[in-house]
Amino acid sequence: MALNRRHFLSVGLAGTALLQAPMLLAQTVFHVVVVGGGAGGATVARLLASSGVRVSLVEPNPKYHTCFLSNLFLGGLRDHQGFVFGYEALVAAGVTLVQSRVVGVDRDVKSVSLDTGEVLAYDRLVLAPGIDFREGAVPGWSLADAQRMPHAYKEQDQTQLLRDQIDAMPRGGTFAMLAPPNPYRCPPAPYERISMIAHRLERTNPTAKILIFDPKDKFTKQTLFENAWGKYYNGMITWFGPDFGADAVEVRPDAMEVIVDGDVQAVDVCNVIPAQIAGAVAHLAGVTDETGWAPVDAFSLRSKLDPLVSVIGDSASQGDMPKSAFAANSHAHAAASAILAEMVGNAAPPPSYANACWSLLAPNDAVKITETFHATAEKIVSDEIYISAPNEPAETRRATAEEGLAWYEGITADIFG
Ligand SMILES: Cc1cc2nc3c(=O)[nH]c(=O)nc-3n(C[C@H](O)[C@H](O)[C@H](O)COP(=O)(O)OP(=O)(O)OC[C@H]3O[C@@H](n4cnc5c(N)ncnc54)[C@H](O)[C@@H]3O)c2cc1C
Repeated sequence: MALNRRHFLSVGLAGTALLQAPMLLAQTVFHVVVVGGGAGGATVARLLASSGVRVSLVEPNPKYHTCFLSNLFLGGLRDHQGFVFGYEALVAAGVTLVQSRVVGVDRDVKSVSLDTGEVLAYDRLVLAPGIDFREGAVPGWSLADAQRMPHAYKEQDQTQLLRDQIDAMPRGGTFAMLAPPNPYRCPPAPYERISMIAHRLERTNPTAKILIFDPKDKFTKQTLFENAWGKYYNGMITWFGPDFGADAVEVRPDAMEVIVDGDVQAVDVCNVIPAQIAGAVAHLAGVTDETGWAPVDAFSLRSKLDPLVSVIGDSASQGDMPKSAFAANSHAHAAASAILAEMVGNAAPPPSYANACWSLLAPNDAVKITETFHATAEKIVSDEIYISAPNEPAETRRATAEEGLAWYEGITADIFG
């Protein structure tokens, strides 16, 4: 791997990284292990390897299927093949890909153990395992029931299953979603999903009903979603908040029933999106707290419980940033800068954090929320928020939809090379 100054400039360390021969040597022997090859982990692995750092990326799956844009697959607006990415460019950049699952972390000896029995020693560990579900969050439902009542919030086979179930619904049947409590991955995603499912059912099963049971009394871009549901989907969608008992819903997967406030509702499809916590490996590593998430320093994404471990993406408890692919990629840039700066003995440049989420309401009609942030000693703090206005002209909505697709192309190129 050729080491040169350009590599450092490419991650924004211009003027801060004064490289000398011993430092260069340190880079090649210093070993960073990254756990999880998703939006956060693949980005940080690629950035570090491109700067000459020895990086091992541990990821059990040979390909990554993006959750982002998977709602368009449910709506029939995008083919699944467009969501699949390999790690070839990362390997070409110098990343050692280890196709396994981390099953143990020993922070005292600085090593991770793999499901193959192998042990990998690290100098710095970056955890980017995404989310897991809080056990017992929905009475009557456990992961074992995900074949009957899919979550479709992680693996692609779950999204495919949900779409197959929707297509097999009887005429005039009922689709139910149990929306998650805060904080959870991609705040607008459940409501974009509802829009896309309604779009599908409008064409295939127009007398079907969609019920949303939500433990939150409000949700992001609510007016924009509700306006669109009224405009496009003709009374098909009904949202129930906690006032209607939707914060204490029980399910019976075998009977395909949802029990709300003592009333039993028979459903044909039930999408259960449970409360979420940091990916299991963050708990194994002992870097999570009582909230179930991993507290991190806002400048560097280093764990507040162990500075040799960084936690990025959805698993991190960092402050005001939502859990999104945009945010995970943003964390990865900051974490890579902090690790590189530490290796060369310099202060890291101030991180720059942003997020944007586009939501498709119907074909060619999208809205967005964008936000900038800055780091403080306590947490990442929100600066400015922009949300699409209600009643925007159709051309604006079409342009926003195109912008969302362009973002997808750009971010997947930045993540996977
Ligand atoms: C329906 C839906 C729509 C969405 N839409 C958007 C959107 O429009 N825009 C947006 O920005 N975000 C969106 N998101 C959110 C986005 O997908 C996540 O926020 C993002 O993927 C988080 O990145 P991450 O790196 O933290 O986790 P992930 O991308 O989930 O990656 C985690 C990786 O870690 C691996 N892993 C887990 N445990 C281990 C282990 N023990 N050992 C090794 N590897 C492990 C997993 O296999 C996985 O590949 C959406 C999510 C959903 C569900």
